[in-house]
Amino acid sequence: MASKIVHEQPTIFIIFGATGDLAWRKLAPALYNLFVDKFMPHNFAIIGNARAKMTDEEFQGKMLEGVNQFSRNGKADKTLWKEFAQHISYQSSDVQDNASYKSFADFIEAFETKHKSKARVIYYLAVAPRFFPIIASKLAENNLATDPKTSRVVIEKPFGHDLESAKDLNVLLSTLFQEEQIYRIDHYLGKEPVQNIMAFRFANSILEPIWNRNYIEHVQISVTEQLGVENRGGYYEGAGAMRDMIQNHLLQLLCLVAMETPINFEADEIRNRKVDVLHAMRKFEPDDVQKYVVRGQYAKGWLEGEDVEGYRKEKGVDPQSNTETFAAVKFFVDNWRWQGVPFYVRSGKRMHQNTSTIIIQFKDVPHCVFPTQVTDNWQQNRLVISIQPEMSIRLQLQVKRPGLDMVLNTVDMLFNYKGTYKHGEPEAYETLLTDIMEGDQTLFMRGDQVEAAWELLMPILNAWGNRKSLSFPNYQAGSWGPELAEALIAQDGFHWFTLPFDNE
Ligand code: NAD
Repeated sequence: MASKIVHEQPTIFIIFGATGDLAWRKLAPALYNLFVDKFMPHNFAIIGNARAKMTDEEFQGKMLEGVNQFSRNGKADKTLWKEFAQHISYQSSDVQDNASYKSFADFIEAFETKHKSKARVIYYLAVAPRFFPIIASKLAENNLATDPKTSRVVIEKPFGHDLESAKDLNVLLSTLFQEEQIYRIDHYLGKEPVQNIMAFRFANSILEPIWNRNYIEHVQISVTEQLGVENRGGYYEGAGAMRDMIQNHLLQLLCLVAMETPINFEADEIRNRKVDVLHAMRKFEPDDVQKYVVRGQYAKGWLEGEDVEGYRKEKGVDPQSNTETFAAVKFFVDNWRWQGVPFYVRSGKRMHQNTSTIIIQFKDVPHCVFPTQVTDNWQQNRLVISIQPEMSIRLQLQVKRPGLDMVLNTVDMLFNYKGTYKHGEPEAYETLLTDIMEGDQTLFMRGDQVEAAWELLMPILNAWGNRKSLSFPNYQAGSWGPELAEALIAQDGFHWFTLPFDNE
């Protein structure tokens, strides 16, 4: 059940960019499912805003299409949708147009009068980042977000294109709003298994004593996608894997694995501990980049039985593009807990499999008491936190295989969400929207966190920007990325792990 805070305060969602992909694919299903599960406030309104001319009914129809196609619960229930749709209206205008902000103010006033209560107003900027400054400024100019307790501004990544632009954006936002009003979404943090990393680490006493350099040999974090750039070639050309994935999702996962134990579950305490990790991470000198970082770009290849084009042939992509569609980095966290433990991180498009996994590789036993013929299949203990394709946590252990001989082999102790819980888990956006209503910023990025992540990556981005890759394209679509990424980890005596998951 939603908290009293959510239910009792009348709430208005104003969604800028409401006819776009994010609103249609993610926000509409999330809001509808919250309504169906009785997690929405008793009184709420959703106003969609975009340039296209549309009636309220046409906009409701578009949202319904989004729900029917993308909701985790399948098609909308007719009666419930009809009830939900009564709360949705649409307003066509350009984000630059002052009149629309005046009409938002009128709407809010009428809504508050009707419900005899101050409304919580959530401004969701589901628009391209170039519009963030103008919308933020117009909201402030029109006194639409003056009360930090009741008004919230939500923005989606990318938070800047580099350190400078991230700082500029933060300065602008912090002059217009309080940090407690700003919700920077990295939707990865709303995923159930990602939230579970903290529960797993800090609610189980057996883990903390071994969660350090004395027992952990190395950590691998992989987020790989089979998808190419689809119809977002234009956007991706200006981003690349480092900006699009590593700067946010993968570094956030790394922070959750590496952070110190917070003293409580307050948003700022948790965010402080994450920023500590980013500050402790070893900064690259320009000469280090070639040693610790690999970039890749996919050539045409064969994926799931189909021929797929190379990146340079994708729509909106420069035929000589220098944009990386794959990046792998060997990071170090220079503190007492992690000194000397490499964190290998990789992410790429058009890869062999869709996976998001964190692998904690424990050190070998100090002395093996078994004869060599018994340990043919020996594997050091490994903890696998899987976000995709399955949501699970596996602890890989050595056991004796049943039989007359003493032979060791590896088995999994498995916690699998599907097998353990009957109810489907909420989508990341349902969790995040609920937290925004509740005013809980734990799962959102703070301004200094964003800047610390950019600061870490700037030497790499600068080095790549200054030197065009001569080897692009350097991996086949459908492969596991460039050979150099294998070499990056192989030179330390390890290899990237991939798992045959049960549901494959
Ligand atoms: P989109 O291009 O599909 O939609 C943009 C929306 O902005 C459209 O509704 C368009 O009509 C509106 N718009 C454009 N110019 C306008 C103007 N001058 N005045 C008023 N409205 C205008 O973009 P999207 O994919 O929905 O992404 C929105 C934001 O979310 C971006 O910052 C993107 O980086 C981020 N994001 C999107 C996804 C996703 O899954 N689509 C995931 C993560 C982050």
